[in-house]
Amino acid sequence: HAKQSGRNTYRFFAEQMNVQAIERLDLETRLRRALENSEFVLHYQPQIDLAERRIIGAEALIRWVDASGNLTPPSAFIPVAEECGLIVPIGAWVLREACRQASEWQRAELPPFVVAVNLSAAQFRRHDLVETVIEALVLADLDAQWLELELTESLLLQDVDATLETLQRLKAIGIKLSVDDFGTGYSSLAYLKRFDVDKLKIDQSFVRDLVSDPDDAAIVRAIIEMAHSLKLKTIAEGVETQELADRLKLFHCDEGQGFWFAQPLPADALQDFIRAHAVPPRSIPA
Ligand code: C2E
Ligand code: MG
Ligand code: MG
Ligand code: MG
Repeated sequence: HAKQSGRNTYRFFAEQMNVQAIERLDLETRLRRALENSEFVLHYQPQIDLAERRIIGAEALIRWVDASGNLTPPSAFIPVAEECGLIVPIGAWVLREACRQASEWQRAELPPFVVAVNLSAAQFRRHDLVETVIEALVLADLDAQWLELELTESLLLQDVDATLETLQRLKAIGIKLSVDDFGTGYSSLAYLKRFDVDKLKIDQSFVRDLVSDPDDAAIVRAIIEMAHSLKLKTIAEGVETQELADRLKLFHCDEGQGFWFAQPLPADALQDFIRAHAVPPRSIPA
């Protein structure tokens, strides 16, 4: 009897694994097709200077639009795209599209702001990354100072010598660099002085309960103080309330990003948002 049930259990897991493998393969195929059929869009979330209450940047965040117009969030496909290597062509598209859009906004005579693009490790490790970035800038006719690349701590620490070289080449072009989800990786603070990054993005998980949790408040204050000592800027992710925005400003955090200011918006909606808040008296809540 035990043998029988063991076999059934085995069969159950084997079938489960099959289902998972098939679903993954299916997703891979659909992602490949999505790329060919241009089914991806970028939404842009404003980044606000907390002291001056103006938009100084926007983070490009990818979404997958299906035939009926439904949006699939990146969490549902970026991990698979990373595993199967599709993140490289998808990421190259994101870079081109973000640069094209940034250039279009500048031509539309919006007050200039930086567009930030997320990079995956698989993209960063490619020997042609710097060429891909330059190509996107040249194609869009965009000055490098308006492009920022968001890198994660774990990506930075994977192969320190190669990372250092790539970062130096990117900085030499004039691109800005930020560390995304700061505090969640293996925070090897020693590397911050070797890596020439511009900004730390304090992870949502420390920001969320900032007002009620003294430990989170202490961590955030320490990050901000350290960043400023190293001449780095700070931006808080996940700013969902006015209270949070006020507290962060009190802590001298430079910038904020989150639902309190705006959701990630389609390009035309971001343009409207900026126009609406560009003229003094500025009406961005803070
Ligand atoms: P991330 O880079 O840390 O992006 C911030 C995420 O937080 C976004 O989720 C954004 O919508 C969400 N967010 C913004 N404000 C708030 C807030 O006030 N509260 C809460 N709870 N969340 C907020 P999204 O757009 O679903 O993206 C998730 C992740 O997917 C990103 O995290 C990034 O790691 C990845 N991702 C997005 N676009 C790209 C891309 O083009 N390339 C790569 N490689 N990764 C991307
Ligand atoms: Mg990011
Ligand atoms: Mg982040
Ligand atoms: Mg995050």
